[in-house]
Amino acid sequence: MRFHFPIIIIDEDFRSENASGLGVRALAEAIKEEQMEVLGVTSYGDLSSFAQQQSRASCFILSIDDEELTSEAEETIGELRTFVHAIRFRNADIPIFLYGETRTSRHIPNDVLRELHGFIHMFEDTPEFIARYVVREARAYLDSLAPPFFRALTHYAADGSYSWHCPGHSGGVAFLKSPVGQMFHQFFGENMLRADVCNSVDELGQLLDHTGPVAASELNAARIFNCDHLFFVTNGTSTSNKMVWHSTVAPDDVVVVDRNCHKSILHAITMTGAVPVFLTPTRNHFGIIGPIPLDEFKPENIQRKIDANPFARQARGKPRILTITQSTYDGIVYNVEQIKRLLDGEVDTLHFDEAWLPHAAFHEFYSGMHAIGAGRPRCKDSLLFSTQSTHKLLAGLSQASQILVQDSESRQLDRDVFNEAYLMHTSTSPQYAIIASCDVAAAMMEPPGGKALVEESICEALDFRRAMRKVDEEWGTDWWFKVWGPDFLSEEGVASREDWVLTPNDRWHGFGNLAPGFNMLDPIKATVITPGLDVDGDFADWGIPAGILTKYLSEHGIIVEKTGLYSFFIMFTIGITKGRWNTLVTELQQFKDDYDRNQPLWRVLPEFVAKYPRYERVGLRDLCAQIHTMYAQNDIARLTTEMYLSNMEPAMKPADAFARMAHREIERVPIDQLEGRVTAMLVTPYPPGIPLLIPGERFNRTIVNYLRFAREFNQRFPGFETDIHGLVDETVDGHTRYYVDCVIGR
Ligand SMILES: *Cc1c(COP(=O)(O)O)cnc(C)c1O
Repeated sequence: MRFHFPIIIIDEDFRSENASGLGVRALAEAIKEEQMEVLGVTSYGDLSSFAQQQSRASCFILSIDDEELTSEAEETIGELRTFVHAIRFRNADIPIFLYGETRTSRHIPNDVLRELHGFIHMFEDTPEFIARYVVREARAYLDSLAPPFFRALTHYAADGSYSWHCPGHSGGVAFLKSPVGQMFHQFFGENMLRADVCNSVDELGQLLDHTGPVAASELNAARIFNCDHLFFVTNGTSTSNKMVWHSTVAPDDVVVVDRNCHKSILHAITMTGAVPVFLTPTRNHFGIIGPIPLDEFKPENIQRKIDANPFARQARGKPRILTITQSTYDGIVYNVEQIKRLLDGEVDTLHFDEAWLPHAAFHEFYSGMHAIGAGRPRCKDSLLFSTQSTHKLLAGLSQASQILVQDSESRQLDRDVFNEAYLMHTSTSPQYAIIASCDVAAAMMEPPGGKALVEESICEALDFRRAMRKVDEEWGTDWWFKVWGPDFLSEEGVASREDWVLTPNDRWHGFGNLAPGFNMLDPIKATVITPGLDVDGDFADWGIPAGILTKYLSEHGIIVEKTGLYSFFIMFTIGITKGRWNTLVTELQQFKDDYDRNQPLWRVLPEFVAKYPRYERVGLRDLCAQIHTMYAQNDIARLTTEMYLSNMEPAMKPADAFARMAHREIERVPIDQLEGRVTAMLVTPYPPGIPLLIPGERFNRTIVNYLRFAREFNQRFPGFETDIHGLVDETVDGHTRYYVDCVIGR
């Protein structure tokens, strides 16, 4: 496998016809003779952006020419120092050489010298000798890059051996036998298909029993993430969560679960036959889900919930697992040490669903606000798990996920037992490209590169917030969007962590009297608030429902992560670029312009109007006003908040309700008759995509009122429907009726 990593030479004279020019070009030629690419440039250019490009290089050769040192010595050394430090901030290993004609290391300050691999004296040795020396270092560096599994896979794919094993496309050859297959082959390329192998290839090791290069990679990732055990998972954190649960939860066990949990946790409850008691998070009226208050975690409060639950009461022993969404969708995180202090030993296993938080271990900004990392004390008794979607915020392919474990002082994970649960949920044909991406995503976070990547996303996220405030200031009293977050925003650079810790009763968050130091907002998640609704749930005279704005954005090529009533949400992953967020700011300006001029929809949302011609001549502002009025009349912000905070009465165990469904002992109940009935389905409104009712729970009046509202809304504003998973619709004579599958006889 040939990779392209040129040796980069930075020399003012690279193109000059003087002696130094000739000398450096001779060196470049000699390097090429050694089969390495060379890129010669004449200046550092924009130093910082050049340093960012370091990932493409195999080595740097930096000239420090004689006359530069005498005439502009200070400045040259200054530039050199900035450059070298910018590289070392991201990359501890890439070889950097200085070369000069007469000058020696005596002229270079120590803080630069100690970052170098060597000092080349141009005319003392032949260019060929120097080239061999440099190339050897560059190759050694490149050789050190690939982590174990990825390395083995690239070797295997390059090996050219004939395969008789599955997959049946045999390294992509099958595709070449058909025209559409040819297209597929050309699109994905040879390597992706050559590397798509099955688990009978011994030299790659086995994911399912963690052997060979796979095991070496898991060990490597465990070292980087500072945990005792780490398992790669190729079917998403949905699967990781089920594995963790099945390794420790059995039927009728009591489990303690964040009500704001991902549906995979609810699936795990159903699959294991557990009896859940829920911890209820706060919510503000923007629809943003806040933290579970610290008090809810107290063992006596959990016991009270168990006593109040007819199914949990009968269970014996302590709760088996606690699962917390660590980093909610909107970016709220918890101080894990405070939770451990309350619940270590009270619950068998503490599980943090950190699907959105794999980056936190790599920057002190998040210290204490994630489950497992360097220097974090062990629990005395409880095992600590974190499940992370490598693909959400790090560089994993879709479904790349990992399980991290920290043993307690009294107990080690039994890896064999754990693996039985792992096997229950893993395909016997794992996708090797996903394993390789787990491997590489972890290796990318190796210090110092990982910290630099995280710092960059934090900085970009803060710069976006600063840019939005600047626009706001320029508009003066005119309207503009707000980004949800603390009032104080530092002027530049990485913020102080303290600025992002939620202070009790601060108005901006609207979560009330939180325990000091218990929660923080992760700035890389940015919720943009549109006008129309304030944090108390009061509607203004006019407003811009976010669903209209995000349709507008999507027609202009900007897809947001999640849309709420008057907010939408974007993320600054390590893949963020300045171009991306600046484009968002300019598109928001465009929207404001079109809104203020009440442009007709055929002009600003042509694709949408093609599907829904009824809106053709409606003005953008008028449409916003219509939907805003309907929201305001129904007091929808309060209704949604109350609905989520309303008392959910468990009438059956989730697994029992689900069993009724499997046996078709269910009936379709129309919305108006739902009150008091027991759902067999998960009921999940989008937004926010958080399950509202789980199988076995009873519909209360607040929820039914919400469903009535959704029905009416959907009738009035086709194209802007509130999507509710679990609600079945049937359209007869142009009228849509909605039903939920409920348990018969309950
Ligand atoms: C996305 C998500 C998951 C599931 O992760 P996948 O990798 O998509 O399967 C689990 N928990 C939370 C909190 C999530 O946001």
